[in-house]
Amino acid sequence: MLTTQYKNKKLHMEDVALETLAEKYGTPLYCYSAAQITQNFNAYRDAFLKVSAPENFTICYATKANSNLAVLRLLGGLGAGADIVSGGEMARALAAGIPASKIVFSGVGKSEDELRAAIAKGIFQINVESEEELVQLSALAAKMKKKVPVSIRVNPDVDAKTHAKITTGKKENKFGVDIDRAPALYKKALKMPGIDALGVAVHIGSQLTSLTPFKRAYERVAELVVKLRKQGNDIRRVDLGGGIGITYKDETPPDLTFYALMVRDIIMPLNVHVVMEPGRSIVGNAGVLLSRVRGVKKGASKKFLILDAAMNDLMRPALYDAYHAIWPARLAAAKETYDVVGPVCETGDTFHIGEKLPALKAGDVVALMTSGAYGAVMSSNYNTRPLAPEVLVSGKKSALIRRAQTVEDLLKQDQIPEWLG
Ligand SMILES: *Cc1c(COP(=O)(O)O)cnc(C)c1O
Repeated sequence: MLTTQYKNKKLHMEDVALETLAEKYGTPLYCYSAAQITQNFNAYRDAFLKVSAPENFTICYATKANSNLAVLRLLGGLGAGADIVSGGEMARALAAGIPASKIVFSGVGKSEDELRAAIAKGIFQINVESEEELVQLSALAAKMKKKVPVSIRVNPDVDAKTHAKITTGKKENKFGVDIDRAPALYKKALKMPGIDALGVAVHIGSQLTSLTPFKRAYERVAELVVKLRKQGNDIRRVDLGGGIGITYKDETPPDLTFYALMVRDIIMPLNVHVVMEPGRSIVGNAGVLLSRVRGVKKGASKKFLILDAAMNDLMRPALYDAYHAIWPARLAAAKETYDVVGPVCETGDTFHIGEKLPALKAGDVVALMTSGAYGAVMSSNYNTRPLAPEVLVSGKKSALIRRAQTVEDLLKQDQIPEWLG
């Protein structure tokens, strides 16, 4: 059940009318529903509790999808661990109270400082992406007199059938170690000081709307685990990577129950601890970007609906041609066709082309739907636009969870060298 719905023709998030949030906090404004995040996380947990015991799996929320401390605190309280891809994200997860023992560190280019910090904290697992990184990690761990739990991320050469910019599991992608070359690397790992290569990790891409690519990848991983055990590697964990896709427009993502059954059939017979790293499917549909209409501009052949939100606030349409449905705060019949754009000086600053909407005017509030994942976290200050504030809604309550940046904040970061006078 979506917690963002029309009630009496007014768009609500839980029990709060979104227009009142626009009034109170200003726009553009990111709003997240705590009940929706909870529902989404529990859907993963419940699906896996049906096929496994609680001690046999860990759901490590992919922090990069939405790393606000309040979101992390909420998820940590529900029992989530964290999947991080930078030292900054580790700092956020720890600050939100997620223990190091539930943190997985992924990413293709970790710095030495980041690796050292992760080892020092004693995190659950480091997902290594190359032989070079494994050698580096071994040297660091040995020097620190620690043994680091490592999964090697393998690249299974499976087409995730998702957008080219978010596919990661094909041979030509930069991610992971070619699965055919993995056994040789695991053999080397056996002799490396400071390394306990206890797991295999895989992540083939994001926004997958079919189980088939997951199934192919997991079958290849299962074969690899058998092979690795035969050559002496004591493999105790399998990290399944990101979660399933979500509905932005008309996609029908697979049911988590079927996903869990597939994992039960392919991975669980290996008797390993299962790690999952869902991001988008936990927070995506829990968030909207609220915006006010700045005005309607009549072009030669089109009507442009100009919003106060722009590509710097929500980059996905410009970056991936992503679709974010636009719902007016007040429900009315669709009578107009608009190109919906932001005020930034780029033609790419376009949310919709030829979208049917009610007649709207300056000051009206609209919501760009399904913006909770890869929304605020990807925003920038392009055109010297301060980052939008963020609000968390729970029942009738709302709270600011990131204050609005100001132009003053931005100017303060720059410095003019003395010699410029
Ligand atoms: C981005 C990413 C995820 C999260 O993917 P979603 O599609 O948002 O669930 C998980 N694991 C890794 C390694 C990632 O890079």
